[in-house]
Amino acid sequence: MADPRGFLRHRDRELPARRPVPLRLMDWREVYEAREKGELGVVSRQAGRCMDCGIPFCHQGCPLGNLIPEWNELVYREDWREASERLHATNNFPEFTGRACPAPCESSCVLGINQPPVTIKNIEVSIIDRAYEEGWVRPVEPARHTGRSVAVVGSGPAGLAAAQQLTRAGHSVVVLEKDDRPGGLLRYGIPEFKLEKRHLERRLAQMRAEGTRFRTGIEVGGSGPDALDVEQLRSRFDAVVLATGAGIPRELEVPGREAVGIHPAMDYLTQANRHVEGDWISDPITAEGKDVVIIGGGDTGADCLGTALRQGARSVRTLAIGTRPPEERDESQPWPTHPVLFEVSSAHEEGGERSYLASTTGFEVDDSGAVSGLRIARTSYQDGRRIPTPGTESVLPATLVLIAMGFVGAGGRALHEALGVEHTARGTVVHDATWRTSVDGVFTAGDCARGQSLIVWAIAEGRACAAAVDEHLMGRTSLPYSVRPGENPVTV
Ligand SMILES: Cc1cc2nc3c(=O)[nH]c(=O)nc-3n(C[C@H](O)[C@H](O)[C@H](O)COP(=O)(O)OP(=O)(O)OC[C@H]3O[C@@H](n4cnc5c(N)ncnc54)[C@H](O)[C@@H]3O)c2cc1C
Ligand code: SF4
Repeated sequence: MADPRGFLRHRDRELPARRPVPLRLMDWREVYEAREKGELGVVSRQAGRCMDCGIPFCHQGCPLGNLIPEWNELVYREDWREASERLHATNNFPEFTGRACPAPCESSCVLGINQPPVTIKNIEVSIIDRAYEEGWVRPVEPARHTGRSVAVVGSGPAGLAAAQQLTRAGHSVVVLEKDDRPGGLLRYGIPEFKLEKRHLERRLAQMRAEGTRFRTGIEVGGSGPDALDVEQLRSRFDAVVLATGAGIPRELEVPGREAVGIHPAMDYLTQANRHVEGDWISDPITAEGKDVVIIGGGDTGADCLGTALRQGARSVRTLAIGTRPPEERDESQPWPTHPVLFEVSSAHEEGGERSYLASTTGFEVDDSGAVSGLRIARTSYQDGRRIPTPGTESVLPATLVLIAMGFVGAGGRALHEALGVEHTARGTVVHDATWRTSVDGVFTAGDCARGQSLIVWAIAEGRACAAAVDEHLMGRTSLPYSVRPGENPVTV
């Protein structure tokens, strides 16, 4: 145990400062102040609050099975190098989860029963940042080559984790990606102010040095000139991993939807991320000078909010169809579950208004065909369904509307159909207990298998799927199965 009295002596969570709002709205950089080396003492002090519980419930919260009490003790003892080893033992990409994970481990932390939980996520990111600064993150080249080949379709966190594990196991791995750059939602979904792309580039460089090959601009199973057909895919590779994400946005089918100025959130965020990459966008969707309404109160909505504020929106309002979540756990969300709470993310700190119980019933369209407003009604609940209450309609002015209502099932449909892969009623890829789809030699992981989820689940599934593929190819495996299909967060 790090410090037997640490949790008694230090009861508060100490987290890095965020940059002042007016300053951070002027750029796209991450919202945190640059970390000074001396500040690592604060991180060690926080690690010392860990009680090294007999049953570490933080493990229940994290699908990766991160060895949290072990790296807490190492950080407390300032053995950062060994802490980095322990971190990488269960997580290929702690720099992504350490920045963007909602940290279900902290919701499950035993200290959270009567004190603020250990700052696990900040300890994680401090370890990996220090490891990169010290040059400890080196390519891990395979000890032998198996002569077997694997195609990983999709380069989001699930595909990347599967590819890294399989390359290190000695297979010849090619990641095929339809976008022009690898990274999936890490690249074109999550904005720079939450996850600077230099972290992604650094990890991709490590993967390339280890031997993973990346082929971008190739839609597998598509019909364009750069497409790769299913026959070529099956004949060139001994196994295939489908990690094609859940990129089909949920639509809002109400009158006026076809008006100019109404866009799915991902169209908007992709363009904004491309702009930050330095790409030229000929007809950009921009919030500059506009009254923006974001439909959907989740993380994607918050990412749209932070982006619109940085682009100079005149006003931004986020609409949530449900009730305002509580600020603290209530009886329906007891420890150690991950509660749905009223969240103040960095983007919420920066501006905008939020409305709850707001059902959109239609759009107002001006003479030029552009959106000028939304008709909204108060939501009421009928037999568990959310419906607009008659007689409560009002009009909200809007010149840009972003629809951030989630996603409905697996991306890469054309490929799945061409392969003959079956889907569930929810539109996700059917797979068995070893990540096999209904087609022999084809495996799956991440959002296309689980449905829209989190980076941490995508990495966990990618790692576990790699173990299943290795076993399929070699008859046995020493790769870890971090998670089994169908495993879910702790609920009541
Ligand atoms: C805006 C937004 C913000 C988010 N923020 C967070 C966050 O802060 N924290 C968090 O934990 N989670 C967040 N998430 C969720 C998280 O990003 C996803 O759960 C995760 O990226 C899923 O990983 P994946 O590898 O399964 O799929 P993806 O990251 O979606 O990657 C799938 C890849 O497959 C490619 N592809 C699809 N079909 C084909 C084909 N036929 N051929 C070749 N390539 C193909 C796609 O182009 C894509 O690059 C966010 C999601 C969104 C949309
Ligand atoms: S549950 Fe919290 S206090 Fe207990 S081992 Fe995990 S991080 Fe430490």
